[in-house]
Amino acid sequence: MEHMSKSFKNLTSRPDFNDRYNDLRKQVLNHPDVQAFLTSHSHEIDSGMIDRSMVKLFEYVNQSKNCEQCPSLSQCKNLLQGYHPRLAIVGKMIDLQYDICPTKKTHDEMKKHQSLIKSMYIPKDILEAQFHNIDLDVNEPSRLKVISLAQDFVESYNNGERPKGFYLYGSFGIGKTYILGAIANELATHSVSSMLVYVPEFMRELKGSFQDSSLDNKLEAVKKIPVLMLDDLGAESVSSWMRDEILGTILQYRMLENLPTFFSSNFNLKELQHHLSTSQRGEEEPVKAARIMERIKHLTIPLELVGKNRRG
Ligand code: ADP
Ligand code: MG
Repeated sequence: MEHMSKSFKNLTSRPDFNDRYNDLRKQVLNHPDVQAFLTSHSHEIDSGMIDRSMVKLFEYVNQSKNCEQCPSLSQCKNLLQGYHPRLAIVGKMIDLQYDICPTKKTHDEMKKHQSLIKSMYIPKDILEAQFHNIDLDVNEPSRLKVISLAQDFVESYNNGERPKGFYLYGSFGIGKTYILGAIANELATHSVSSMLVYVPEFMRELKGSFQDSSLDNKLEAVKKIPVLMLDDLGAESVSSWMRDEILGTILQYRMLENLPTFFSSNFNLKELQHHLSTSQRGEEEPVKAARIMERIKHLTIPLELVGKNRRG
C-alpha cells in the first residue's frame, strides 16, 4: 500500500511521469480482481472513468483482500484495520467500499462469545471446555448420561423452555466443573449468557468485604444472570448469614423468576443438607438447611457423576 501510493505521489513531480504512470496503470489494470470488475461492469465503465478512478484502483490493488496478506488482526496492513476493500461504482467513479474482513469477523464473534460467559474464580481451561472435546469413556455411563442431558438442556432452552438445571455431584477431579464450563460454552454459541461461580471463593470474598456497591452489583448479577452455575457448593464454610441471606436469597429469586441454575458438589443431597445444617460456630439449624435444600431440589435434577479422577 505505502509503496504504491507513495510511488503515485512521487510520480507527478518527476520528468518521466508519463512512462511511470502508464506502468502503474498497466499493473493495476492487469490485476485479476480489477479485470473481473471491469468486465462485469463493462457497459457502465469507460476509459475516462477508469482514469478518474485510478487513485482508488491503486488503493484497491495494494490492500489485502480476504486476509490473504495479513498474518493477524493486529498486523492487518489495510488502511482500515479489520476491513477489506471491494470495488463499486459510485456515481461516475469507481470507488471502494470497505467490509469487515474474515479475521475481524471471527475475532468479534469470539469476543462476543467470551462476553457471554461471566465467571468468578474459575480456571481458564474450564472456561474453554466444549462438548465436542470432552473426553468420553464407554466405562463411564454417568458421564455420557450427564452430557446427553446437558445437550437436551441447551436445546430446550433454545426452544424457549426454562428447564431445570442439574445438581451434579460426585468425587473430586472427575470433571464436574468441566461439564459446567462446556454447558456455558454451548449456551454462548446460542447467544445465551451464563455465569460460573466458584462458591467457596465467592463466599470468602463476600465475607471479607464491606457491604459496598460493588458487592451489591455482584450479588445482583449472580441473582439475575439467565443461567447460573454454582460450582463446588459444600466446599465453603457455612455461616448462617451466607446460607440464609446470600445463598437463600439468590435461590429464592431464581426459583420465582424461573431462571435455570446448576450446582456442582462433592456431596450428594443428603450430605449437603448435613453440611448446611451445622454452622462454623457449631449451631445446629436443620430447618434453615432444609429450606435451602427445598430450593435446590426445586431448581435441579440430581445427577451423580462417577468416573476416574482427571487431575494430573
Ligand atoms: P471436578 O470439578 O469434578 O473436581 P474438574 O472439572 O475440575 O473436576 O476436572 C479436573 C481436571 O480434569 C480439569 O483440569 C479438567 O480440565 C480436566 N477434565 C475434566 N473432565 C474432562 C474431560 N471430560 N475431558 C478432558 N479433560 C477433562
Ligand atoms: Mg470442580
